[in-house]
Amino acid sequence: MSLSEIKSRIKAEEDRAGRFPGTTRLIAVSKRQPDDRVRAVLEEGHRLFGENKVQEAAGKWPGFRDDFDGVELHLLGPLQTNKTKQAMELFDAIHSLDRPKLAKTLARLSGELGHCPDLFIQVNTGEEPQKAGVMPADADKFIAECRDLGLPIVGLMCIPPVDEEPSLHFALLAKIAERNGLDGLSMGMSGDYERAVALGATHVRVGSAIFGERDYG
Ligand SMILES: *Cc1c(COP(=O)(O)O)cnc(C)c1O
Repeated sequence: MSLSEIKSRIKAEEDRAGRFPGTTRLIAVSKRQPDDRVRAVLEEGHRLFGENKVQEAAGKWPGFRDDFDGVELHLLGPLQTNKTKQAMELFDAIHSLDRPKLAKTLARLSGELGHCPDLFIQVNTGEEPQKAGVMPADADKFIAECRDLGLPIVGLMCIPPVDEEPSLHFALLAKIAERNGLDGLSMGMSGDYERAVALGATHVRVGSAIFGERDYG
């Protein structure tokens, strides 16, 4: 599917849901995609991208940033504490804040670096043991802790279980955000971004629908 096709589907869904046009941001998820595909999307004028790994992003994005102005890069995958500083230097937003230790490290380094990326707290809405994110029942407390540390928390993020109706998870995430006064909702991927837009997503993270299948080699 082309980038413009996806953008027009997002717009149609915003219209249907009675949302202001343009209030959903499309993050093009470029992880494990060949450089020529990423470059083609940059040449179409798209500037907001997401990556899953600090190391992979550090290898490819400084070069793209030299060639294209105004790139905005978001980290979507788990962040190891020892890569926090590198991530803060590379990314404009981090969607995977999920534990107190990482929150404290971000707060300490914000002081040193004098800036901090926008932060989304990842919520494990499906309460899956293997998945990152705070449990829904712990979310309010963790959000408050992060705010006490002075961190710029802009919203919440979730990755629903593969075998469940994603709308239930999107609605739960929206509810937790609302009661905590958070505007940002990072939810929806290639298979379900339209449903996420209907439920108020401010950031959809779309990879394979834009770029094609990833190279898992
Ligand atoms: C890979 C990834 C995406 C994009 O997945 P697609 O199904 O290719 O759209 C979105 N969010 C996260 C956290 C991811 O790791």
